[in-house]
Amino acid sequence: MTDHTDIYIGARVVYHTLGCKLNFAETATLRDRLIGYGAVDAAEDGDADLCIINTCSVTGESDQKCRQAIRRLHRRHPEAVIGVMGCYAQLQGEAISRIEGVSLVVGMEHRGRMAELLIPHLEAKRRATLCTAPETEIQTTSTRDIHTFVPSCSRGNRTRYFLKVQDGCSYYCTYCTIPIARGRSRNGSIASLVAQAEAVAEAGGKEIVITGVNIGDFGRSTGEDFLALVKALDGVRGIERFRISSLEPDLLTHDIIDACAASRAFMPHFHIPLQSGSDAVLRLMHRHYDAALFADRVHYLLRAMPDAFIGVDVIVGTRGETADYFAQSEAFIREMPIAQLHVFPYSERPGTKALAIAHTVSPEEKRERSKRLLTLSEEKHRTFYDRYVGTARPVLWEHGEGWTDNYIRVRGEGTPNTITSVMLTPEVLIKT
Ligand code: SF4
Repeated sequence: MTDHTDIYIGARVVYHTLGCKLNFAETATLRDRLIGYGAVDAAEDGDADLCIINTCSVTGESDQKCRQAIRRLHRRHPEAVIGVMGCYAQLQGEAISRIEGVSLVVGMEHRGRMAELLIPHLEAKRRATLCTAPETEIQTTSTRDIHTFVPSCSRGNRTRYFLKVQDGCSYYCTYCTIPIARGRSRNGSIASLVAQAEAVAEAGGKEIVITGVNIGDFGRSTGEDFLALVKALDGVRGIERFRISSLEPDLLTHDIIDACAASRAFMPHFHIPLQSGSDAVLRLMHRHYDAALFADRVHYLLRAMPDAFIGVDVIVGTRGETADYFAQSEAFIREMPIAQLHVFPYSERPGTKALAIAHTVSPEEKRERSKRLLTLSEEKHRTFYDRYVGTARPVLWEHGEGWTDNYIRVRGEGTPNTITSVMLTPEVLIKT
């Protein structure tokens, strides 16, 4: 099929990605491949021949955003081939295929071949201007037994690169569809990931964000572990910053914290999903830890890396989260010396075990709880930033802004992809 790749020469492509960093990494990998075949990015106000939509299905709202994005792109580019990939494509392929304009829906197992699978559709579309429109194709299969790991390492829109080290999840939290969408936990080998990081360094990249679904579970398919990966990546000369996109609290061990603290390039910046500060709710969620373990990891981390920025995910209004449980959760989070919360209102997902929990939370109450935690997050974020006013920190510059080692966002005109020491004043801080 690859001899037909010349269909891509000069093809104008629009990319639209929803969801997590892993999706952005996978879109960037596909873009690299299409550019290698001769495709170009469509001009912002120009027409497109191909639209790629990489979808997310973490909440009902994500599903809706995906459908809206597909419809919007079809209205804007009625002649373009539309290819849809990602979690929502895997879970609801049939439904997506019925949306007008969609040519190809690709699930998890086939997304590494997206570029090639689109070729007949681009060819048919070209012919269809003379006869009839091509049929929609769905390429999704059960993820139950997926063991393949599709590598991905690409530069995002910014200077940083995203290195996918792991995919899928074997945890099966009761509210989550990701294991159904992405399959079980699997990973690349340390040797292959080090080689990809070395290629980034050779291309001039300085910062790599380590991505995956359940990164701490790294090693299941290769008999390795995340601690060994941290140590191996730290040895890649030229990469000055590694960030770990997210680590489950039970997998963020003291050994991993010690290794990051002693490392050359792992940044004092962590993202830890808590989801609830109530043990009763954590049990209903089938999470693998309690609030005490989470607190232990946060305190240990801050003893080892006192300047660390710690971002925390919380879900509010899950089935079973009574007013008392929410109050316990809020009180626990208030005590935690963390820098920011990412608050997600619980969303009912078809096929999840959480649907069997009787107690539900009204939409108004969910909004109220979200608001309370978002206010708390703003307080914590402000406090964290204020602590560093009057101190100098190293900043890696992007265009017009940059990030300190501990994830403080600053404005300025440093040369992109260089690191300079910056005195943090209220004027340079960008509070988000
Ligand atoms: S750890 Fe839980 S929430 Fe995270 S992807 Fe796995 S099942 Fe979903």
